[in-house]
Amino acid sequence: MSRQLKFNIFRYNPQDPDSVPHTDTFLLEETPSLTLFIALNKIREEQDPSLQFDFACRMAICGSCGMVINGRPGLACKTLTEELPEEITLMPLPVFELVGDLSVDTGSWFRTTNTKIESWIHTDKEFDPNAIEERMENDLANAIFELERCIECGCCVAACGTANMRDDFIGAFALNRIARFMLDPRDERSENDYFDVVGTDQGVFGCMGLLACEDVCPREIPLQDQLGILRRKMGFIGLKNIFKPKAKAVG
Ligand code: SF4
Ligand code: SF4
Repeated sequence: MSRQLKFNIFRYNPQDPDSVPHTDTFLLEETPSLTLFIALNKIREEQDPSLQFDFACRMAICGSCGMVINGRPGLACKTLTEELPEEITLMPLPVFELVGDLSVDTGSWFRTTNTKIESWIHTDKEFDPNAIEERMENDLANAIFELERCIECGCCVAACGTANMRDDFIGAFALNRIARFMLDPRDERSENDYFDVVGTDQGVFGCMGLLACEDVCPREIPLQDQLGILRRKMGFIGLKNIFKPKAKAVG
């Protein structure tokens, strides 16, 4: 016999001065292989067309449908209701600006953070559109790709205690991103350039290391490893800078 699911969904429209944050309850008959994404679409089509939430691809690629599912950030399209109890509470991801109900503006946060960490290949080489591709060892290409799989869903940021308390903390997403550029031989940044970006309290030294980020990442990116590697590298660069011989004064 199918279950009757009870959804408690956060509702609030920050654009409407009369709107008050509250929870609405919806009942839905569970069907086989029902995802939260399908359930939310059914609720919107059959019960409340004003319900706001984000989605695009339905297959954990676009990163749009992140939300807090029974207290834990995750993707609605990747979550089957059969994995959850009959009562399901859905809240918007914290840290990001609320658009309405379950919809948040992750785009602005990621654009600002990517700009802050200069999230692109830095090179002095002139771009030649006719040049033959430079070869890269397979192992290195795979190691870069492993970190490149991030879909900017925001779950790691929403789960992070530091990011929830401090809006200047760049989060595991950005630290993973810098780890990816440090592997890439096409990026000509020096170790001190990287240190300036992530060797600070806003970067890897602000991380408390409790690893909620890795627990919730729907792409299972090895954030724990990257945080550890980056912390060691940045600690080493910092020490080198402290103990490097001082240049002699001229004259
Ligand atoms: S380990 Fe660091 S980045 Fe990850 S959730 Fe904790 S404080 Fe945030
Ligand atoms: S690292 Fe994982 S949880 Fe964080 S934004 Fe990327 S895919 Fe989402």
